Amino acid sequence: MPRIALFIALACAVAPAQTTLDAVAKAMGAGGLNSIEYAGSGATFTLGQNVGPTTPWPRVEAKSYRRVIDYGTPAMREEIERAQGRTVQLVSGGTAWNIAGGNPAAAPAAVAERLTQIWLTPHGFVKAAETNKAAVKGRTISFVAHGKHRVSGTVGADNLVQSVSTTIANPVLGDMPVEVAYSDYKDYGGVKFPSRIVQKAGGFPTLDVTVTEVRPNAARIDVPPTAVRDAKPPAVRVETQKLGDGVWYLTGGSHHSVLVEFKDHLAVIEAPQSDECALAVLAEAQKTVPNKPVRYVINTHHHFDHSGGVRASVARKLRIVTHRGNEAFYKKTFRGGSYVTVADKRVLTDGQRSIELHHIQGSPHNEASLMAYLPKEKLLVEADVYSPAPPNAPPPATPNPASVNLYENIQRLKLDVAQIVPIHGRAVPLAELEKAIGKAK
Ligand SMILES: [Zn+2]
Repeated sequence: MPRIALFIALACAVAPAQTTLDAVAKAMGAGGLNSIEYAGSGATFTLGQNVGPTTPWPRVEAKSYRRVIDYGTPAMREEIERAQGRTVQLVSGGTAWNIAGGNPAAAPAAVAERLTQIWLTPHGFVKAAETNKAAVKGRTISFVAHGKHRVSGTVGADNLVQSVSTTIANPVLGDMPVEVAYSDYKDYGGVKFPSRIVQKAGGFPTLDVTVTEVRPNAARIDVPPTAVRDAKPPAVRVETQKLGDGVWYLTGGSHHSVLVEFKDHLAVIEAPQSDECALAVLAEAQKTVPNKPVRYVINTHHHFDHSGGVRASVARKLRIVTHRGNEAFYKKTFRGGSYVTVADKRVLTDGQRSIELHHIQGSPHNEASLMAYLPKEKLLVEADVYSPAPPNAPPPATPNPASVNLYENIQRLKLDVAQIVPIHGRAVPLAELEKAIGKAK
C-alpha cells in the first residue's frame, strides 16, 4: 500500500468527531417541527409468518404508505394500501385503535409499540433524545425511554440521523431488536427528511419505503373516538367442548387448542398467541382433567401466532413436540427447552390412545408444519391450511392451495378422517374440506 493511502486509511479509523444534540436538532430542522406527514410506496413484510423459521418475513407490496405524526400529543396515524386492502392504525396518547370498514376498533395491546414507533422516526428520535437527556458519545446518541426501553441512534458527519434501534417485546423473540435505517435526505423548507426508510425487526426487513411526499407542520390526527377510549385488552377466555372420550376442543378465542388425555398424563395440541393465552389454555386443561399433569405441548408450526405460547410452555418444563425443522430455532430463541421432534411421522402412545404426528409435506403455507391424527377417534387437527368457513358459506371460487395440499397429504397417508378439528374455525366432517377444494363427491 503506498504511504499516502495508508495515512488516509489510518486517519479514517480515528474516532469521529463528537456531536451534540443541539447540532443534530439544528441540522434536522427539528426545533420548530410539531407534526409531520410523509408518504411514499414500497413494501411491508409480515413479521413471524415466514415460510421457515430462519427465512425472511414474507414481502407484501404497499402501493401507498402514509404516516401522520403529532410529536406533542404524541399521536400517529399510519395508512397502508396493499393489494389485499387498506389498513389504518392509530395511536393518540394512551389510546390505540384501528379503522376497519369505516369503523373504529380498539387495539389497546398496541399502545406501547405504536408510541415507540413515533420515537423511532428521525425527528421523533431527536425530540425523545432531548426529553430523555440522551448521552452523546461520538456520533451515537442513546437514552432510556419510558424508564425501560433503551433507544440508540447514530448520526452522520452532516448530523442527520442515519439509524435508530431499540427492542420491542415479542411473545416468540422476547426482546426483539428493531432497527431503522434512514438515507437520501432531502430538504423540505428547512426540515430534513430521508427518502429511503428500511426498518428491520428480528433481523429481517419489516418495512422498505421510498418517501416521495413530506409536509412539515401540516398534520392533523383524529381524536380517539369515545367507543375506543379506555378500552382494556379483553380477558383470555377458554371454553371446553368434548370431542370424544378423553379429547376436548379448547376454544373461545381466535386460536383453539385440543386436549388429549393419556393414561398418566395430558397432551395439549397448540399453545398459541402469548404467555397469557398459553397459560389460560394449560390451566383449562388442568381444570378439565385435574389428576394428571400436562406433559406435552404439540406445536403445529412456528408462525408466531401459533408458537407464541411455546416460551411459557418451555418455562413450565413441558416437552415441546414440533417438526425437526423448528428445533434449532426454538432452542436458540427460548434458550433451551426439551423437544420431541418429528421428521415425517412420530406416534405418541400409551398403548391405548395414540396421536400420530405427520409432516404436512409440500405445504405452501409453512415448510415445517405438523398435523395430528387420532386414529381411534378419526380426528385430524391442523392449523391454517384449512380453516372452515361458516356453515352454508359458498365454497371459495379458487381453492386454497394449502387446503388442496392438505387433502393430498390425507390421501397420501391414507388417513381415515371423520372430522377435521382446526385450530381456526369449527370442527367439520371431511366432506366440508372436499367441498372447499371442489372435490365434493
Ligand atoms: Zn401459519
